[in-house]
Amino acid sequence: MNEKFTAWCGLCCIDCIPSNKDLFDLVHKLEENLSDLQFDEYAKLKAEKNPVFGEYPVFIKVLKEIKSLKCSIPCREGGGKTVCEIRNCVQGKGYLGCWECSDRYSCTKLDYLRSVHPNLDYHLDLIGKYGPDSWLSKRGIHYRWQKENGGK
Ligand code: SF4
Ligand code: SF4
Repeated sequence: MNEKFTAWCGLCCIDCIPSNKDLFDLVHKLEENLSDLQFDEYAKLKAEKNPVFGEYPVFIKVLKEIKSLKCSIPCREGGGKTVCEIRNCVQGKGYLGCWECSDRYSCTKLDYLRSVHPNLDYHLDLIGKYGPDSWLSKRGIHYRWQKENGGK
């Protein structure tokens, strides 16, 4: 694994939904196809008999919001959130990442990430032990709704 995919906070950028290129390519393609077909007009017609098609504008709104989640470059190379107190903190201390921090276990800045990414501390321990370029093969699930041994 390339070190660039290990974010300052210990997340693996490869596993983040916003970095999923296939997903965003598909969303882009779907939006284009729907627009070429003037599917909005078709949806209005279909809505006369099936009210679900009346929700088509909401569907398009959600597609646009999904597109806005896209993150094209790893956090370490300038991607990620525009403002991140974790990144600021790590860089301010001159660390490579939170795995180098002795205050990590009591750090409340990581609490939100811990609630979404149940392996965050386990992964930070792995990174501390194997280094930011060699821990990938040992990592567990990324998001709390995923199942261990059932994919990423
Ligand atoms: S923006 Fe912050 S929370 Fe997101 S990956 Fe980067 S360091 Fe982690
Ligand atoms: S205090 Fe330590 S663990 Fe918390 S965000 Fe800063 S570097 Fe990371």
